[in-house]
Amino acid sequence: MKVDVLVIGAGPAGSSTAREIAESGFSVLAIDRRKEIGFPVQCGEFLPTPDELRRILPRSEDYGDLFEIEPRLVERETSLIELYGPFGIRYDMEFSGLTLNRREFDKSLWGRAEKTGATLEKETEFFELKSDRVAMTSAGDIEFDYIVGADGPLSRVRKCLSLSEPSAMSQAVTGQARGDFGENVRMYFGSIAPGGYAWVIPKRASANVGLGTQKEFCKEPLSDLIKRFAEGFEMNIEEFAYGQVPISGPIKRTVSGNALLVGDAAGQVMATNGGGIPIAMICGRIAGRCIANVLRGKGRISDYDTEWKRQILSPLKNAARTKAIADYFFATNRRLKFAMKTLGLNGLERAILCKRVFYLF
Ligand SMILES: Cc1cc2nc3c(=O)[nH]c(=O)nc-3n(C[C@H](O)[C@H](O)[C@H](O)COP(=O)(O)OP(=O)(O)OC[C@H]3O[C@@H](n4cnc5c(N)ncnc54)[C@H](O)[C@@H]3O)c2cc1C
Repeated sequence: MKVDVLVIGAGPAGSSTAREIAESGFSVLAIDRRKEIGFPVQCGEFLPTPDELRRILPRSEDYGDLFEIEPRLVERETSLIELYGPFGIRYDMEFSGLTLNRREFDKSLWGRAEKTGATLEKETEFFELKSDRVAMTSAGDIEFDYIVGADGPLSRVRKCLSLSEPSAMSQAVTGQARGDFGENVRMYFGSIAPGGYAWVIPKRASANVGLGTQKEFCKEPLSDLIKRFAEGFEMNIEEFAYGQVPISGPIKRTVSGNALLVGDAAGQVMATNGGGIPIAMICGRIAGRCIANVLRGKGRISDYDTEWKRQILSPLKNAARTKAIADYFFATNRRLKFAMKTLGLNGLERAILCKRVFYLF
């Protein structure tokens, strides 16, 4: 089999990339090892509104219909985040976002790509590159002109290309709890989730509950941490899923020859809040447009690297820097209390919005 573009992974990054390429009339095949796109849900399912995204990513360009989300995929709209720290600290941050049904959201993103002519092979795993034109997969060899690694935080495409690895990963667990959890998102910092935070993100008649931590801060298994968190709030959590979040900022180079990386595979995540869905979609769109241009005989594939960096690198780097410095304060509840009190609501808001924070000291 031969295609213009082979996309590995049909998450938000892969679907957004594939859509742009197929829309331009080129053949694009995505493969995903999952049986069902969007499942298991390794996600808090929270998405900022486009207005909030513009606040976080002021240089990112017109989103068009990228974030036009069908009402059936929206579980709840939220306008406030409650931030809890050790020793009774609490701040309330105004922030508008929505809780998605991520299981269906990922399917609908792929649906948009499919409508433009992209094709998908599920339960098909990418193993390795046999050459710069041939991928070895569980369904046999696939020939391509360009290949996109949209295969998540532990990207195998990234390894095959010998591109740099994210230097820090957060280990995360999430699940669903039934009941009414009010209207606000809640984030809990401190020993409940060492080096990260725990969350309760309300849905219609349930909540997405989870936490992320870092190995160097915590030797305890995630399953014990989440159990303790659930017990503390008398929640019964089901449908556990575990995952990783790259938190060291984007990798330096995201293009190599006729290949590129997008989304978590490229470390394109907001390190201070762990959000990666919108970034993956924005970068996927840029990647797809660049590849389509190259196939039309215009531009170079390295334009992708230049363009996504121009639009969003600065906030992602701010967030990674803040996260790295914040790690010193995550070591004990006392230090964390000091940092949260010193930063106050304004400083915490800046951190979450990927602005520079520590030049304040
Ligand atoms: C617990 C947790 C909570 C999170 N909460 C949020 C949140 O609330 N909001 C937010 O914005 N972000 C959140 N994130 C981050 C967000 O989920 C990711 O940033 C986002 O999914 C990145 O999209 P992606 O397409 O790059 O990768 P993914 O969504 O990981 O998609 C990668 C796809 O590639 C496939 N794949 C991987 N390897 C192969 C292979 N070898 N062959 C074939 N297919 C392969 C996978 O099956 C998968 O479908 C969270 C992450 C975790 C782990």
